[in-house]
Amino acid sequence: MAKKISKKDIAQLLKTWSQQFTVLAPSRASGVAEMAEWDGKDTSFLDWYRNTTVPPKASFLPPMEEMFRFRKGEEGYQVEPPSSNGQRQLLFGIRPCDARAMAILDMTFEDAYKDPYYLEKRKNTVLVSLGCTNPCESCFCTSMGTGPTDASNVDIMLIDIGDGFLIEEVTDKGKELVTQTKGLKAAPKSDEAAAEKSRETSYNKVVRQLDTKGIKDKLLASFDDEEFWEQTAAKCISCGICTLLCPTCYCFDINDETDKGEGTRFRSWDSCGFSVYTKMPMENPRSEKWRRVRQKVCHKYEFYPMAFDVIACTGCGRCIRLCPVNWDITQVIESVPTKVKGAK
Ligand code: SF4
Ligand code: SF4
Repeated sequence: MAKKISKKDIAQLLKTWSQQFTVLAPSRASGVAEMAEWDGKDTSFLDWYRNTTVPPKASFLPPMEEMFRFRKGEEGYQVEPPSSNGQRQLLFGIRPCDARAMAILDMTFEDAYKDPYYLEKRKNTVLVSLGCTNPCESCFCTSMGTGPTDASNVDIMLIDIGDGFLIEEVTDKGKELVTQTKGLKAAPKSDEAAAEKSRETSYNKVVRQLDTKGIKDKLLASFDDEEFWEQTAAKCISCGICTLLCPTCYCFDINDETDKGEGTRFRSWDSCGFSVYTKMPMENPRSEKWRRVRQKVCHKYEFYPMAFDVIACTGCGRCIRLCPVNWDITQVIESVPTKVKGAK
């Protein structure tokens, strides 16, 4: 039988889980909404939270991360990896779109190559999702293979049933945690019916739709349509927000900080939207803005589908609602020409 928890008991639930995990929950303490270590009492996010501004990818690929320290000795450099405390973390409240983004990132960080920093955090994390009841106007998740209560990529899903949540145990990890957790009540059939109604209502609230049929081939055919890409990029100011805060973007830069023969190598988020991106021994191959905007769009809607058979966009809508000049990826995708300009 399914279990439930009252909203007034969420603080107690998080306290219980805090004994085993570092619990992260939605927080505005830093001034922007993000997943941050739970302070042991505040559950006001249950009222204000729609989604975080900083995507939960930051808990796996932090904006800045130490890779290792090094020191020059008599026999060359000695390298010291960062110490791992093996601490398990629990992300409470991740939205289904962002959980899907993690599954998309796994394709790069686990399948294409093995990124030890990312994988260790991924392995040690339990994802507990809060189904979304109040999607933003900019959200189009239901067009991107997910939805406000999609439980596919999480361990436990909580569905809002008014004064509480119905608990869906999704993975073995999730089942084990629910079984161990004391104080959860059995949900009567009427709660399961309420959850079904809640799911339906949430899906109906996602009003923005995007038709992505054939988009990979359309982008391939339009790759050299300079006029289209120049128009598409015209108002972009290359601030990088849409990439840095996109839950599926993962570009990073690597730098060393050194002092007297010792130092630290760290990586930090980067954006293909910046003119200095990949400015290594040679020029940035995308010196014009339209080439960088094309890269951003094509990487998600053409190159990722070619490599992994999935579009690397979850429809979370951050790039639309956070763009300072109202650039809108759904309008771009809808306006990609169906034929190459000038083709017979
Ligand atoms: S957020 Fe808007 S202005 Fe900034 S890089 Fe993205 S599209 Fe350009
Ligand atoms: S491209 Fe935009 S809508 Fe798609 S996942 Fe990234 S931020 Fe979200």
